[in-house]
Amino acid sequence: MRSVIIGGGVAGCAVAAALRSTSHCRESVLIERRKPGASAGMGFILMPNGLRALDAIAPEFDWRAAGRIIEMVSLRNRNGEVLAEHSLEASVCISRERFLRILRMAAAGTGMLEGWNLETLERNTDGSTNAIKVDDGTRIAGDIFFACDGARSRTRSLIFPEATLSDVAIHEIVSVAEAPELAETLGNGFQKFHDERGGLAVGMLAESATRVVWFVQFDAVRYGVDTARDTGRAATLAEKIELFVRHQLTNWAPEIAEAIDSTNFNHSHLWPTRDLPPLASLACGNLALVGDAAHACLPFTSQGANGALVDAAILGGLLADVGSREEAAAAFALYTLLRRPHHQKLFMDGRRLRAAFLAPFGARGPALPLVV
Ligand SMILES: Cc1cc2nc3c(=O)[nH]c(=O)nc-3n(C[C@H](O)[C@H](O)[C@H](O)COP(=O)(O)OP(=O)(O)OC[C@H]3O[C@@H](n4cnc5c(N)ncnc54)[C@H](O)[C@@H]3O)c2cc1C
Repeated sequence: MRSVIIGGGVAGCAVAAALRSTSHCRESVLIERRKPGASAGMGFILMPNGLRALDAIAPEFDWRAAGRIIEMVSLRNRNGEVLAEHSLEASVCISRERFLRILRMAAAGTGMLEGWNLETLERNTDGSTNAIKVDDGTRIAGDIFFACDGARSRTRSLIFPEATLSDVAIHEIVSVAEAPELAETLGNGFQKFHDERGGLAVGMLAESATRVVWFVQFDAVRYGVDTARDTGRAATLAEKIELFVRHQLTNWAPEIAEAIDSTNFNHSHLWPTRDLPPLASLACGNLALVGDAAHACLPFTSQGANGALVDAAILGGLLADVGSREEAAAAFALYTLLRRPHHQKLFMDGRRLRAAFLAPFGARGPALPLVV
């Protein structure tokens, strides 16, 4: 059977790798909208559930050695004073680019078509899918389909047009600092600094001996990058981000000043964070939604990439011996049953952590910014 994967991010590459262990679905083609060499993002934390999924999908790689082990979370106030520390089951901070490179090696048998943008689906009256069409009119036929095209999934909008992402309440600026000394200070810890009034926080982790991934999360109502000081001409987004960060984080902990001074803001990414209210179904006949397309979640959960990896591992198992479109549709229905409770919990946990983030943290201190 021919599998067609839409989207070549974490979910798409993980599905391609997971299909290797199936007997009938190995013939795969993946389309990715972005062109080869496009920037692949900063980095994220592989949590224990994501690492277990990777062990199932691609056990030939040493995923724990691919980034920096994180085993402690330190919650601090804006001056850097420790408010609480939590140990963490070993997790890994990894560059998204390096991670995708390895995952693509695991999916080496899949035909990768980059610079191909899904336009529409060719569907039957019973809702099943026959083929996809890309924006230059090319048709790609298949037997089973995987929508791995991210939070703003075009595929999802075609099959479930009623599903809409929430409004943006929090923005996040993600950056990388080239800062060996800061990386050494951070060691195997994830440090998060909080404004006691709520609605503004900075997190940072070392991804290697020299690189630190760090992010600023802020209340979209109270703060805006566009309100940064006028430079006398039309400022670039990178200039606005840098002005905003320097202004809002003046006199915060020295680690933050070090991160700011070691960052090229031209590479920073301003991310309007949204989540997706849980869907009634994660599939429509022989097409399954995977990763953010199925369950976009808020960044406080640290579960975006991990949830995508678990989805892919589960699908690999369910499809192991599937040999027809009908059997695939039954496997996808089971996938919905297995994953929906997790998505509902993730959605609720994300909302709870967002409410805690927006409020003054008071005597109880800030909430642990992870769902494990
Ligand atoms: C460029 C980029 C950088 C990111 N950087 C970070 C980061 O530094 N830290 C972090 O925590 N998260 C980052 N994310 C988000 C994170 O990867 C996801 O939230 C998570 O891993 C779930 O993965 P996903 O594959 O479901 O979605 P995504 O990783 O968003 O992947 C979706 C893929 O589908 C492709 N696509 C979308 N529409 C179409 C279409 N019509 N046709 C073909 N392809 C399409 C996109 O180009 C993308 O490659 C980034 C996402 C992207 C796309």
